[in-house]
Amino acid sequence: MLILTRSRRIRRALRIVRKQIPTKDWRAIASFVEWLRCESGWQRAGLMSELSKNGGGLFPLYDPNVPPRDQKNPRGQVRFALPICRLYSDKALIGLVAHELAHAVRAARLGAGWYERMDRRYLHEERVADIMVSRWGLRSQIKAMRQEQRKTVVPLLYQQEPHIMQLLYKRVAKDEEAVRERFSRTLATQPRQD
Ligand SMILES: [Zn+2]
Repeated sequence: MLILTRSRRIRRALRIVRKQIPTKDWRAIASFVEWLRCESGWQRAGLMSELSKNGGGLFPLYDPNVPPRDQKNPRGQVRFALPICRLYSDKALIGLVAHELAHAVRAARLGAGWYERMDRRYLHEERVADIMVSRWGLRSQIKAMRQEQRKTVVPLLYQQEPHIMQLLYKRVAKDEEAVRERFSRTLATQPRQD
Protein backbone atom coordinates (compact mmCIF):
# COMPACT_ATOMS: atom_id res chain seq x y z
CA MET A 1 0.00 0.00 0.00
CA LEU A 2 1.40 3.35 -1.03
CA ILE A 3 0.79 6.29 1.28
CA LEU A 4 0.31 9.18 -1.13
CA THR A 5 -0.60 11.94 1.28
CA ARG A 6 1.44 14.50 3.15
CA SER A 7 -1.42 15.26 5.53
CA ARG A 8 0.23 15.06 8.93
CA ARG A 9 -3.01 14.30 10.72
CA ILE A 10 -3.83 11.39 8.43
CA ARG A 11 -0.29 10.02 8.64
CA ARG A 12 -0.31 10.27 12.41
CA ALA A 13 -3.70 8.54 12.63
CA LEU A 14 -2.40 5.82 10.33
CA ARG A 15 0.65 5.21 12.51
CA ILE A 16 -1.56 4.79 15.58
CA VAL A 17 -4.01 2.50 13.78
CA ARG A 18 -1.21 0.42 12.27
CA LYS A 19 0.06 -0.49 15.76
CA GLN A 20 -3.36 -1.84 16.72
CA ILE A 21 -4.07 -3.96 13.65
CA PRO A 22 -3.22 -7.69 13.98
CA THR A 23 -0.55 -8.88 11.51
CA LYS A 24 -2.99 -11.04 9.54
CA ASP A 25 -5.38 -8.14 8.96
CA TRP A 26 -2.54 -5.76 8.15
CA ARG A 27 -1.22 -8.17 5.51
CA ALA A 28 -4.68 -8.31 3.94
CA ILE A 29 -4.82 -4.49 3.84
CA ALA A 30 -1.29 -4.05 2.51
CA SER A 31 -1.82 -6.46 -0.37
CA PHE A 32 -5.38 -5.40 -1.22
CA VAL A 33 -5.07 -1.60 -1.11
CA GLU A 34 -2.99 -0.12 -3.92
CA TRP A 35 -2.77 3.34 -2.34
CA LEU A 36 -4.14 5.68 0.27
CA ARG A 37 -4.49 9.31 -0.74
CA CYS A 38 -6.41 12.50 0.03
CA GLU A 39 -8.59 14.87 -1.96
CA SER A 40 -7.90 18.47 -1.05
CA GLY A 41 -11.23 19.89 -2.29
CA TRP A 42 -14.91 19.26 -1.65
CA GLN A 43 -16.34 16.24 -3.48
CA ARG A 44 -19.69 15.52 -5.02
CA ALA A 45 -21.42 12.15 -4.86
CA GLY A 46 -24.60 10.34 -5.74
CA LEU A 47 -27.08 10.53 -8.60
CA MET A 48 -28.00 14.14 -7.82
CA SER A 49 -24.35 15.10 -7.51
CA GLU A 50 -24.87 16.51 -4.04
CA LEU A 51 -22.10 17.40 -1.62
CA SER A 52 -20.39 14.28 -0.31
CA LYS A 53 -20.61 14.04 3.49
CA ASN A 54 -18.06 11.21 3.78
CA GLY A 55 -14.64 11.86 5.23
CA GLY A 56 -13.24 8.76 3.58
CA GLY A 57 -14.05 5.78 1.41
CA LEU A 58 -12.79 2.52 -0.08
CA PHE A 59 -13.17 2.43 -3.85
CA PRO A 60 -12.34 -0.09 -6.57
CA LEU A 61 -9.31 0.70 -8.66
CA TYR A 62 -10.28 -0.26 -12.19
CA ASP A 63 -7.86 -0.68 -15.04
CA PRO A 64 -8.98 2.10 -17.44
CA ASN A 65 -8.24 -0.12 -20.46
CA VAL A 66 -10.70 -2.85 -19.44
CA PRO A 67 -14.51 -2.39 -19.08
CA PRO A 68 -15.43 -2.43 -15.34
CA ARG A 69 -17.88 -5.33 -15.90
CA ASP A 70 -14.91 -7.51 -16.88
CA GLN A 71 -13.04 -6.62 -13.67
CA LYS A 72 -14.69 -8.66 -10.99
CA ASN A 73 -12.00 -8.39 -8.37
CA PRO A 74 -10.20 -5.05 -8.65
CA ARG A 75 -7.78 -3.90 -5.97
CA GLY A 76 -8.89 -1.11 -3.70
CA GLN A 77 -7.91 2.48 -3.02
CA VAL A 78 -8.63 4.46 0.13
CA ARG A 79 -9.38 8.14 -0.29
CA PHE A 80 -9.94 10.79 2.39
CA ALA A 81 -11.59 14.18 1.82
CA LEU A 82 -9.44 16.71 3.67
CA PRO A 83 -12.10 19.45 4.08
CA ILE A 84 -14.28 16.91 5.92
CA CYS A 85 -11.40 15.31 7.85
CA ARG A 86 -10.63 18.79 9.21
CA LEU A 87 -14.04 18.81 10.91
CA TYR A 88 -13.14 15.76 13.02
CA SER A 89 -11.06 15.77 16.19
CA ASP A 90 -7.76 13.85 16.19
CA LYS A 91 -9.38 11.05 18.17
CA ALA A 92 -12.31 10.69 15.75
CA LEU A 93 -9.94 10.83 12.77
CA ILE A 94 -8.15 7.75 14.11
CA GLY A 95 -11.56 6.04 14.16
CA LEU A 96 -12.23 7.14 10.58
CA VAL A 97 -8.89 5.88 9.24
CA ALA A 98 -9.34 2.56 11.06
CA HIS A 99 -12.89 2.26 9.69
CA GLU A 100 -11.77 2.57 6.06
CA LEU A 101 -9.00 0.01 6.59
CA ALA A 102 -11.50 -2.38 8.18
CA HIS A 103 -13.56 -2.12 4.95
CA ALA A 104 -10.42 -3.18 3.08
CA VAL A 105 -9.97 -6.31 5.25
CA ARG A 106 -13.58 -7.21 4.58
CA ALA A 107 -13.30 -6.53 0.81
CA ALA A 108 -10.17 -8.69 0.54
CA ARG A 109 -12.07 -11.52 2.24
CA LEU A 110 -15.16 -11.18 0.02
CA GLY A 111 -13.12 -11.35 -3.19
CA ALA A 112 -14.87 -11.19 -6.59
CA GLY A 113 -17.69 -8.65 -6.72
CA TRP A 114 -16.66 -7.09 -3.39
CA TYR A 115 -17.58 -3.55 -4.33
CA GLU A 116 -21.08 -4.35 -5.58
CA ARG A 117 -21.76 -6.65 -2.63
CA MET A 118 -20.61 -4.10 -0.07
CA ASP A 119 -22.46 -1.28 -1.81
CA ARG A 120 -25.73 -3.24 -1.75
CA ARG A 121 -25.45 -3.91 1.99
CA TYR A 122 -24.03 -0.55 2.92
CA LEU A 123 -25.44 -0.22 6.45
CA HIS A 124 -24.55 -3.81 7.32
CA GLU A 125 -20.98 -3.24 6.11
CA GLU A 126 -20.75 -0.05 8.15
CA ARG A 127 -21.55 -2.04 11.28
CA VAL A 128 -19.15 -4.86 10.35
CA ALA A 129 -16.31 -2.33 9.90
CA ASP A 130 -17.05 -0.59 13.22
CA ILE A 131 -17.10 -3.93 15.09
CA MET A 132 -13.73 -4.85 13.54
CA VAL A 133 -12.28 -1.50 14.62
CA SER A 134 -13.54 -2.11 18.18
CA ARG A 135 -11.84 -5.52 18.16
CA TRP A 136 -8.60 -3.83 17.17
CA GLY A 137 -8.84 -1.94 20.45
CA LEU A 138 -10.06 1.36 19.01
CA ARG A 139 -13.55 1.33 20.43
CA SER A 140 -13.45 4.83 21.92
CA GLN A 141 -12.04 6.25 18.67
CA ILE A 142 -14.78 4.71 16.51
CA LYS A 143 -17.38 5.91 19.01
CA ALA A 144 -15.92 9.43 18.84
CA MET A 145 -16.07 9.35 15.04
CA ARG A 146 -19.71 8.24 14.99
CA GLN A 147 -20.71 10.76 17.61
CA GLU A 148 -19.00 13.70 15.90
CA GLN A 149 -20.33 12.57 12.53
CA ARG A 150 -23.91 12.55 13.80
CA LYS A 151 -23.80 15.56 16.09
CA THR A 152 -21.52 18.05 14.35
CA VAL A 153 -20.00 17.06 10.99
CA VAL A 154 -23.06 16.01 8.99
CA PRO A 155 -25.39 18.75 10.37
CA LEU A 156 -22.70 21.35 9.62
CA LEU A 157 -22.24 20.04 6.08
CA TYR A 158 -25.99 20.19 5.43
CA GLN A 159 -26.08 23.72 6.77
CA GLN A 160 -23.12 24.85 4.65
CA GLU A 161 -24.06 22.85 1.55
CA PRO A 162 -25.66 25.73 -0.46
CA HIS A 163 -22.61 27.91 0.10
CA ILE A 164 -20.11 25.12 -0.70
CA MET A 165 -22.04 24.09 -3.82
CA GLN A 166 -22.00 27.69 -5.01
CA LEU A 167 -18.20 27.71 -4.65
CA LEU A 168 -17.98 24.43 -6.56
CA TYR A 169 -20.17 25.73 -9.40
CA LYS A 170 -18.10 28.89 -9.60
CA ARG A 171 -14.95 26.79 -9.94
CA VAL A 172 -16.54 24.68 -12.70
CA ALA A 173 -17.74 27.83 -14.51
CA LYS A 174 -14.23 29.31 -14.30
CA ASP A 175 -12.70 26.10 -15.71
CA GLU A 176 -15.24 26.09 -18.56
CA GLU A 177 -14.51 29.72 -19.32
CA ALA A 178 -10.77 28.95 -19.53
CA VAL A 179 -11.42 26.06 -21.96
CA ARG A 180 -13.69 28.27 -24.10
CA GLU A 181 -11.07 31.00 -24.22
CA ARG A 182 -8.32 28.58 -25.22
CA PHE A 183 -10.60 27.08 -27.86
CA SER A 184 -11.48 30.46 -29.38
CA ARG A 185 -7.79 31.41 -29.47
CA THR A 186 -7.01 28.17 -31.32
CA LEU A 187 -9.76 28.93 -33.85
CA ALA A 188 -8.51 32.47 -34.31
CA THR A 189 -5.00 31.31 -35.19
CA GLN A 190 -6.21 28.73 -37.73
CA PRO A 191 -6.26 29.79 -41.37
CA ARG A 192 -9.77 30.43 -42.62
CA GLN A 193 -11.08 27.92 -45.10
CA ASP A 194 -13.71 29.53 -47.28
ZN1 LIG B 1 -17.79 2.91 5.84
